[in-house]
Amino acid sequence: MFGTRSFYILLSLFAVCTLLYYFGELVDLAGWTALRWQFFYGVHDVHRLFFLAPIIYAGHCFRVKGAVIITLAAFVAFLPRSLIVSPFPDPMLRIVLFTVVAGFMGSFTGVMHNQSELRSYLEALLRSERDRFLGVLEKMEDGVMIVGPDYRIHFMNPSMVKEFGESVGSHCYEYLHNFDDPCDQICKLPSVLDGATERWEYNFPDGRTYEVIASPFVDSDGTVCQLATFRNITQRKQVELELIELDRLKSELLSNVSHELRSPLTSIKGIVTSLLQKDIELDDETKEMLLSGVSEETDRLASFVTKLLDMSRIEAGTWKPEKASCHISDIIDETFEHLKWVHKNHAFVTDLEPDLPEIYADCSQIRQVLSNLLENAAAYSDEGTQITVRARTVDGEVEVSVSDQGVGIPQEDLGKIFDKFFRGSQKRQKPGGTGLGLAICQAIILNHGGRLWAESENGHGSTFYFTLPVAPPSRK
Ligand code: ADP
Repeated sequence: MFGTRSFYILLSLFAVCTLLYYFGELVDLAGWTALRWQFFYGVHDVHRLFFLAPIIYAGHCFRVKGAVIITLAAFVAFLPRSLIVSPFPDPMLRIVLFTVVAGFMGSFTGVMHNQSELRSYLEALLRSERDRFLGVLEKMEDGVMIVGPDYRIHFMNPSMVKEFGESVGSHCYEYLHNFDDPCDQICKLPSVLDGATERWEYNFPDGRTYEVIASPFVDSDGTVCQLATFRNITQRKQVELELIELDRLKSELLSNVSHELRSPLTSIKGIVTSLLQKDIELDDETKEMLLSGVSEETDRLASFVTKLLDMSRIEAGTWKPEKASCHISDIIDETFEHLKWVHKNHAFVTDLEPDLPEIYADCSQIRQVLSNLLENAAAYSDEGTQITVRARTVDGEVEVSVSDQGVGIPQEDLGKIFDKFFRGSQKRQKPGGTGLGLAICQAIILNHGGRLWAESENGHGSTFYFTLPVAPPSRK
């Protein structure tokens, strides 16, 4: 900052002072009588005062070291006049005293200048650090807000403005929560102002969840404020909840599967144990009854395992429908033929719209859906009642319905019957049922781009509907 220029100014100043100091002697020596001014023959202490200028200037420009050097130079400059010329008493003592006082003044100037320069340097450093810090906050993806001890918002970064809207200067509790008073339990401002760093999660009424971290921050005016970062974790929370739900479903599935496997196995084990007992003589009729029990339970086990496999193949996406054009009336006829023999005491009726368009579907999967709906219709209705299958075209799709005159489904169950392992809240579960049939039917129909739903009135029968897309002309 101070360089050669200051050095030359200092030298000139010193030279001028020395010239003025010895001006009287110079005039006498040169014989310039016109310049013999009274002032230059007066008290030397007054003349020495000129030297304060270079000494203080040296302190200002070159600090203490500069002031000391110029003071010593001045002392040397004073010596000839004091030792040779001075008519005043104690000339040496006077120049020593002056040198000490002037040296002190110069050094003091140096120290003061040092300090003021250090202060402005530190202030500039602080300003640039603060600007840098605010620059980082501006670019942050998380919302950042600085709140003063009076709950007024001092600063908001662009992300915060984007998430919550601009509101610098207003009260944070009004702006964020629409409260009339401070909400210290939520934002923990007092404890943060006491020096603590607080962390919490907050769910806003609109469903957004934020993770907030608040820590103390000293603002440019020295006030301790709260600096809070807001991270939107709504999606993360949703994923966490979904994972918890998935975990719950997995445990439920496991316990259902083990229960469904254990009951037929327990029956089979019981029957086989009875048959193996040598000390008990069983007649042929009892033996036949026990063996048909084993057969039924084995069928139940096999059907459950098949359904479980179907379900897992559908969920894994490996059981893709092998679609082809086919007539729904053919699928209905084939399914009927088989079921009519199994459920001889039910009246199976069809009501098919003439000229139904061909559907584009995996015939065996649709047969499985229809068969499941008819089995259920027969299982949940009394013998002698009627089961009707209708098919018609609705809005460019083929709609098939299966109606029974059975027990019906309570309203509270209607939304759940398509869930895996749901078997109804009333005591009307068919023997050997698994609660998987409708879940599989729904997955199959959805895979075909159709819909499956049920309508029912408790005690007055049920109707299950499903739709299938019509085969496109190119596939016919
Ligand atoms: P399940 O093997 O128990 O029949 P499903 O998935 O086929 O399993 O059916 C789920 C539940 O839906 C059944 O337990 C029953 O409570 C109800 N349900 C299904 N079809 C009918 C129907 N036609 N009438 C009354 N309830 C039915």
